[in-house]
Amino acid sequence: MTVRIGVIGVGMIGQDHIRRLTQVVTGAQVTAVADVDPARAAEIASAIPGCSAAASGTELIVRDDVDAVLVTSWGPTHEEFVVAAIAAGKPVFCEKPLATTQEACLRIVEAETAFGSRLVQVGFMRRYDEYYRALRNTITDGALGAPLLMHCAHRIGTVAPNFSTEMMVNDAAIHEMDLIRWMFDEEIVEVTAVAARHNPTSKDALRDPLVLLFTTESGVLANVEVLANGGFGYDIRGEVVAQHGVAALPELGQVMVKRAGQLSTPIPGDWRERFLRAYDVEFQEWIDRLTSGQPANGPSSWDGLAATTVADAATESLATGHAAAVSLPEKPALYTS
Ligand code: NAP
Repeated sequence: MTVRIGVIGVGMIGQDHIRRLTQVVTGAQVTAVADVDPARAAEIASAIPGCSAAASGTELIVRDDVDAVLVTSWGPTHEEFVVAAIAAGKPVFCEKPLATTQEACLRIVEAETAFGSRLVQVGFMRRYDEYYRALRNTITDGALGAPLLMHCAHRIGTVAPNFSTEMMVNDAAIHEMDLIRWMFDEEIVEVTAVAARHNPTSKDALRDPLVLLFTTESGVLANVEVLANGGFGYDIRGEVVAQHGVAALPELGQVMVKRAGQLSTPIPGDWRERFLRAYDVEFQEWIDRLTSGQPANGPSSWDGLAATTVADAATESLATGHAAAVSLPEKPALYTS
């Protein structure tokens, strides 16, 4: 069986996922695209055999030749499209964030809970990265004993001029907010966010870098350094300190060059390069579930809601200068297994 997919939002990651769905993974066909810019949608559709442009995302969702929906538009538009896909009873993969506020995420959770089975998967692709998976297996197999601390760094080479302090939290660090919950299989209950000395490379209004400190339900402390304009490449770090030892993400397996008294190795330029394989695995697993008639089992609407709630608390902490509690509603049974 081939899953016929409609893609809403054909910007940077939308086009990358279209390439992935048409050239890398098996079992998928892109049959429809929509974008707020109709000329862009028509241009992208014309390059894909058997694909045509829809006038809008909502029109695309109800088309007969669309079995499942991929939402890769701008974050504030996600809620409308995810809720419409649920109303149409179609599986929907939504790039992170699920939605930009806790209230919007809650409306999605309520719609999916009323539908009665899982339709939504959120694009937290780090869960599909082989190194993060190995790190998590090392913790969950118990040999290191109780996890106590986690140190993370999210260093970006350079950001667009419109990148804001809020995006440091809800666009960049939201990945760590999800993976810390996933790593320790528990919720984050408190966040403190502080800004360091201002990075002179960044515009005045951008509070760069930030340090976020999370406390989980069992008391694990996890810190994340978020650096927007690091200037040297894309550098992702993760190290767990546990009762009997320490486990960390490795340096990537790149060729090391020894030359002129120096040892050097390439650094990924951006997230596309660092997580290339993770996105491929993420989409192949999603497609495999759909072609075998099973609901998605990747990051859920609940995970999207939890991460956005943590992001809201981090933004609050940054504004007030105090720790902020993370307040989640009761978890519906749909998301407990
Ligand atoms: P982008 O390049 O700006 O692309 C978004 C596209 O959606 C643009 O073509 C935009 O048009 C279009 N769009 C906006 N509103 C729309 C609407 N109402 N209907 C249809 N199309 C609409 O952004 P991006 O970098 O691809 O990011 C898209 C999403 O993916 C964001 O939520 C982002 O956080 C997420 N993302 C995730 C990862 C990851 O690591 N998982 C990485 C990158 C991005 P205009 O340009 O005309 O506004």
